[in-house]
Amino acid sequence: MDRECSFTDLETFLSEELPLINAARPTLRAVFATYNRVAGHDSGSIWSAGGLGVQVANGGLPPPVGLLFAMAAESLLRRVRGAVAQADVESQIAALGDLGEGDDVLAVVYAGVTAFAQSVEFVAQLRCRVPRATIVLVTCECGTARKRRCLAPLMASGVINCVIETPECGGERTMGAILDALIEARAGNPGLPIGQIIS
Ligand SMILES: [Zn+2]
Repeated sequence: MDRECSFTDLETFLSEELPLINAARPTLRAVFATYNRVAGHDSGSIWSAGGLGVQVANGGLPPPVGLLFAMAAESLLRRVRGAVAQADVESQIAALGDLGEGDDVLAVVYAGVTAFAQSVEFVAQLRCRVPRATIVLVTCECGTARKRRCLAPLMASGVINCVIETPECGGERTMGAILDALIEARAGNPGLPIGQIIS
């Protein structure tokens, strides 16, 4: 990303940032990683037209539901499960193996409340592994002030390029919308099937 993106919302990212990311990169490897799910996409590789390759890594943790999530014991249990789901995501990404330093990589990573620390740590590792990557963090609006205090220094130091704040806890549909928009932009034809799932 050639200019500072900072904290933004989904609509602004899709209309202003994503076109810039696309325009600057004839070929692009996109990695979508979340301990929940990317709506509409199973874990694996999707190859689309326009020089785009996508890797989706879902942890499969269902999004939080209402009152149960508010109960302390449930919340604690959920965090434990979230950490496990995040570890699963990281092993899926590690299995990629061939993310080269010189590749044009766009990483879109979800970090909600459940496994926030683990997700941020994963992003920092990804930055070391692929220094040129454009790293976008998606987070829900719960605890925004606290999250911003944690994320602002990481954005200032260039570890994270952009943070999308969404009202959707779990970020499933938000992650799905970003991936769908990326595929649509690359395919150049929204009516086409989204590609072939090869693993
Ligand atoms: Zn939330």
